[in-house]
Amino acid sequence: MKKEDRGISRRQFLGSSLAVVAMGLIPKKMFAQAKDTRTPQKKSATRVILLGTGGGPRANKKANQAALVILVNNVPYVVDCGCGVSRQLVFSDIPLRTIKSIFITHNHSDHNLEYGNLIYNAWVSGFKGRIDTYGPPPLEKMTKLFLEMNKYDIDIRIPDEGRPPLDPMVHVHEFTKGGLVMEDENVKVTAAVVNHPPVVPSFAYRFDTPGRSIVFSGDTTPCDSLIKLSQGADILIHEVIHKQSLARLMARIPNADRLVEHIVACHTTVEDVGKVAKACGVKKLVLTHFVPSDDLTLTDEMWRGPAAKEFNGEIVVGKDLLEI
Ligand SMILES: [Zn+2]
Ligand SMILES: [Zn+2]
Repeated sequence: MKKEDRGISRRQFLGSSLAVVAMGLIPKKMFAQAKDTRTPQKKSATRVILLGTGGGPRANKKANQAALVILVNNVPYVVDCGCGVSRQLVFSDIPLRTIKSIFITHNHSDHNLEYGNLIYNAWVSGFKGRIDTYGPPPLEKMTKLFLEMNKYDIDIRIPDEGRPPLDPMVHVHEFTKGGLVMEDENVKVTAAVVNHPPVVPSFAYRFDTPGRSIVFSGDTTPCDSLIKLSQGADILIHEVIHKQSLARLMARIPNADRLVEHIVACHTTVEDVGKVAKACGVKKLVLTHFVPSDDLTLTDEMWRGPAAKEFNGEIVVGKDLLEI
């Protein structure tokens, strides 16, 4: 594992084989989405697939934890690695051995719990080049400790399966301030520090591609830095909470007296997210990182309606595996 500065240019190559999806395991609706992602794309196409739209660290039946992938000219750029990200990429027909760029917004577990696992899963899927990862401290330490924790298995697989050493393939780009994160032939990535106490720093990312400009808020309250980052962007993918439903959430979680306090102080309500999108001047608002994410009484309209009071553009209520 090698730590490097930001601002690297490099060429990426995409293998052509498709991952095999265990059709029988996929609900009918989900299969329809997976099928769509196999449609051949124009070379210049920029695609966004939501891999996990749930917010918070508890696993639930309704939504995966935070993750999305932006594909530019079929090259995948993964943003956040909540639990389940590897399998969601497989469901999206993105071969894990093509994953070469990973961005982490902040180091809450619902955004990084499968970070090391995704690197590992790319490696055992045949990945051979270099993998670049970007995010705030302690990303470098997390990477090092992950590789150390799995050293026994990795050291077995290298001679036994003829795999290259994993450690030197991983290049960590750790940073604490906003600005240009990386630029290559497909995309320019810019970060802004957002407000998500007590996680400091916590980043939003903007991806400028030849086709579209996409901003992902990460976790944040409404804040000027995000609005500034998003000016002129096409799509704002933003986290959201439904404040009125938090009391029901608390009733489902034992010993979580301070959780409501944290959620309200660190996130953006469905009433405010429309105001943010309006101030950003984007064309489309995509809601994600729903808190609560496991409340079956919350309908799409209960998420869209309050946001639409302030924002006149298109609003998409995000779903796992939905392609934007
Ligand atoms: Zn989160
Ligand atoms: Zn967070």
